[in-house]
Amino acid sequence: MNDEDGQYFYHPLENIEETDIFYEAIGREHLTKSITSERPYTYWTIELYDQRDGIRGGGGLGVLAADTRRVADQMSVPFVLITPFYPSESHQLLRDRTIYDKQIKVDYKKFGFKHIDKVTIKTRSGLCNLDVIEKRFNTTRILSVTEPNFGELYSNTSGSDHRLYQEVSLGFGGYAALKLVGLKPAIIHLNEVATFFAALARLDELASNGMDFYEAVVYTRKHTLYTNHTLVQAAEAEFSYSQFEEFVFPNLKSLAVKKWLSDKFVNEKIRLSSVTIEIAELRSGVSKLHARVANYHDIAGSKVKFKAITNGIDLKNWMLPNLYNYYQEIGLIDQYGLPSKNYVDVLPSIDADAIKKFKKDGRNSLNSILKNRPDQNNNILRFNTNDYIFDFKRRFADYKRPDLPFTDITRLKNILEPRGAHYIIAGRVHTGDQNMLHKLYALLSKIDQDDYLRTHVHYLSDYDEELAYGLSCGSNTSINIPIVGLEACGTSWMKDVANFDILISTHDGGVADASINSYLNVSGNDESEELDMLYQRMEESISIWENDYDLEYTIKTQLKNFLPIISGARMMKDYLDYLFPK
Ligand SMILES: *Cc1c(COP(=O)(O)O)cnc(C)c1O
Repeated sequence: MNDEDGQYFYHPLENIEETDIFYEAIGREHLTKSITSERPYTYWTIELYDQRDGIRGGGGLGVLAADTRRVADQMSVPFVLITPFYPSESHQLLRDRTIYDKQIKVDYKKFGFKHIDKVTIKTRSGLCNLDVIEKRFNTTRILSVTEPNFGELYSNTSGSDHRLYQEVSLGFGGYAALKLVGLKPAIIHLNEVATFFAALARLDELASNGMDFYEAVVYTRKHTLYTNHTLVQAAEAEFSYSQFEEFVFPNLKSLAVKKWLSDKFVNEKIRLSSVTIEIAELRSGVSKLHARVANYHDIAGSKVKFKAITNGIDLKNWMLPNLYNYYQEIGLIDQYGLPSKNYVDVLPSIDADAIKKFKKDGRNSLNSILKNRPDQNNNILRFNTNDYIFDFKRRFADYKRPDLPFTDITRLKNILEPRGAHYIIAGRVHTGDQNMLHKLYALLSKIDQDDYLRTHVHYLSDYDEELAYGLSCGSNTSINIPIVGLEACGTSWMKDVANFDILISTHDGGVADASINSYLNVSGNDESEELDMLYQRMEESISIWENDYDLEYTIKTQLKNFLPIISGARMMKDYLDYLFPK
């Protein structure tokens, strides 16, 4: 498994030889002094993507939150995830070449949530009652606030009153809910700045309960971690002072905290990132590249440093169950889903027969999922083991370049047709994104105009966890081509690597944690060079699947380099190491 120069290209965990110590720690050694079931790790997120528990998110931020909780549960970490429960969720359907967004009501009682009680938040115009609901797992739970008119995720614009109301409800309402169930946070982990008000609620509680204001600030800062997923601070929406007078200030008991917060306004405007930076001493970015390039400044004007803690996925959730068991049986990962110390030595035992067998199982899973998911021509797809599938599955966002592979239709067709290959696109257009909606329509009509593509390129609407899972398990090669510098981490590609897909990718986000020799890299000096390389890589991936040696080599190289990166247990370990340094 050596590369040409004899170097292992894998990404070593910083303390991979210390995993035994870590297990001891998780087995209630030193961590229990800091985290206990009464003082848990608290994780705040405006978005959770966990359909099994009735909460559907919008994308990667919510998927990460769900994976983080599940991994914590598997590792027996006392952990509470606090998030809104949105009484309706959004779906997107394609009918007659037109995209429709529709809202579906959801009832938390159908998903095992128990109603606990109510909490109140204040606005200048009055009180708002929020229902507190809870779902418990092994050592973790989801604690939610909700009310019938809470609205859906990301409703209205990001600087709107309704968003502020939702964010204040999560922060102040969620903090009150935590107290209601008798818990104090050991750590406040803010998954992006929409959760800022949780840390503010804590600061206000400390400062209004007699702690010296500056001590309260220091204390809150030391126990708050802000995870940033965005690249450019300026892109973030602002709130006005009068919006804060309506929704935020009425919830503050401490005059000193009010004054502190008021001072953070510049020209009567505030960005939540600037105050979040002030209230959180611990700050992380979601990949090595992102942590390095995220361009944020504190109020004094200094550049903010982010600790790189690359996102991971809950392997158990995203992998074909028998493949996950196989990883454990051959000793690639341990019981927590952490790569074993000698996982590189175990890799040679994976052979092409095993890869193909699991791909066949994955294809069956994909077929059963596709039974309910017609393509743009209203056809139900069913693939044979020998069919070749490329997939592009991710939000239909401009920087992810969903239409790039369709720039040269003839060339694309010349790649797909000789092999009879299919190309599946799954990805939602952000509601209201007219630009991308038009790009999708243009793409679909391009496909319509060609006899081969019409029957071999499939668009699946309402992209969700189920499709993400099915395509990771069931396709041969996945395509991830964000404009370099714009993907903070991305986790779809992690699901592909785990499930023995060949990854074609630009060197961006978490992919760039490893070297460009780890996967089929796409690069170039401009977009046309990148496109040319993308087509070459697509051809290459088809021939790799035809040669057992190449297939083994490619899949094992991906795993060697990426397994420690994609492991959600590794991510949790990194968070714990950062929060509780030894
Ligand atoms: C994994 C997943 C994502 C994450 O997508 P990235 O573009 O890789 O960040 C988004 N949506 C769904 C439904 C997913 O399953």
